[in-house]
This record gives sequence, C-alpha cells and structure tokens, in this order.
Amino acid sequence: MLPIHLYGSGILEKVCDNVDLKDKNLSHLIKKMFKTLNKSNGIGLAAPQVGLNKRFFVINTNIIRELPKDEKIRDVFLNPLIISFSNKKISSSEGCLSIPLISDIVVDRYEEIKVSYYNQKLEYCEKTLKGKLAIVFQHEFDHLNGVLLTHKLSQDQKEIHKKDIENILLENQITYSFDNFEDILKYLMSLVNDRNYLSYSSCLA
Ligand SMILES: [Zn+2]
Repeated sequence: MLPIHLYGSGILEKVCDNVDLKDKNLSHLIKKMFKTLNKSNGIGLAAPQVGLNKRFFVINTNIIRELPKDEKIRDVFLNPLIISFSNKKISSSEGCLSIPLISDIVVDRYEEIKVSYYNQKLEYCEKTLKGKLAIVFQHEFDHLNGVLLTHKLSQDQKEIHKKDIENILLENQITYSFDNFEDILKYLMSLVNDRNYLSYSSCLA
C-alpha cells in the first residue's frame, strides 16, 4: 500500500502534469493505486494523494452496493478531461482520504458531465457520467488541479468543521492554540500522520 498524503502536504495543492502514456512503469503504478484504494476502503484515489504529480486517478464504485448498475465502475482515468457539464448543480456530502476524520463536507457538483480519458488498456474513451459517478469523477479531477474539498468551504462551513476538530482534540486531551480552520486542520492531520496519537477509519475519495 502506498502512503496517502494528508492535508498540509504540498503536493496536494499543485497542478499535476499529463501522464506519459508510454511510461513503462504506468501499469505497475496503477496496480499499486488500486491496492491502496482497496485497503483504504475508498471509492476514488488520485495520483497526487500518493505523492505522484500526474494527471490520473482510479475509481471503484463497486463497493457502494445500492448504486445503479450503470454507475458501477472500476477503472483508471488517465489524462482525463471534462468536455461539457449540465446546467444543474447538486449538493454533495463528501469525505476525502487526504482529510481523514473530517466527513460530510458539503460541496456543489455538476449533476451530469461528459468526460474523456484513457483507460487501463490505454484506449481513448468518451462517456457521460451522472449521479454518484459524476460526483466522484469531479472530486478526483479537482485533485489533479490541486483543489481540495476545504478550498470550496464558505467561512460559515469552516467554522462548523473547526468546532468538530476542536471536539476531537478535546476528546483526546490534546491542547492546541490555533485560531483559523486551516491551521487547526493541519495540526490534526500532523497528529493523524503520527498514528500513535489518533486512529481513524477512512472513507470516500
Ligand atoms: Zn479526495
């Protein structure tokens, strides 16, 4: 399993470079990404989350039982693009493997998107995605542009999540002195990195 970079790690906020589809190491990397995704019980994992500055991610929505068949997929998305999107946006409650312990981050997503990418066999694909699959794709696509869930939060939402973090620290009898959401979140993640302090069950993408 590859180590997952957490909030505060610089690579998560960088714009990634295109994947060289002729890279001989690629299939090995993809395999490792799927392994890491499975072990983390996640449904999506983007390359920068494991420290790779490359434009690709893996998605496995098969683990969501209640999902309709046409939204179930296990594939890699190399050099993905969003070609077009619906006018309608929906509100989505998300978590991120790089921001463990913080769940139910509410963000807006396009309800339907048309995308292109290269799959595991390096075939060019165009697909229209909707529902959960469209949401997960947009979450992972954001990662490739250095965009995290926390970047999309309003000041009010940040205050709510800051309180949640303060509660976690209090419960664990950890003292702190941070005024803003970003700093206290960074501190919490540094404690998660040191697994002796806090354990967590991860979810989502
Ligand atoms: Zn994520």
